[in-house]
Amino acid sequence: MNSQQGTQPNGGGQQPLYMQPPREAMEYLCADCGAKNEIKPREPIRCRECGHRIMYKKRTKRSAYL
Ligand SMILES: [Zn+2]
Repeated sequence: MNSQQGTQPNGGGQQPLYMQPPREAMEYLCADCGAKNEIKPREPIRCRECGHRIMYKKRTKRSAYL
């Protein structure tokens, strides 16, 4: 009798839920005028002061994700 059962991982497999990015506004610094802009993740990156599209991400103390 040769009945070997393959060891298949069944049950107990918790799939990690994809963490959704926080909807908190990130602070960006305009590369042109240096104005601070709070831009939400779904909002287009654009300076509200001068309309420049190049923004630098301002470092925050707490790391949201990385
Ligand atoms: Zn600007």
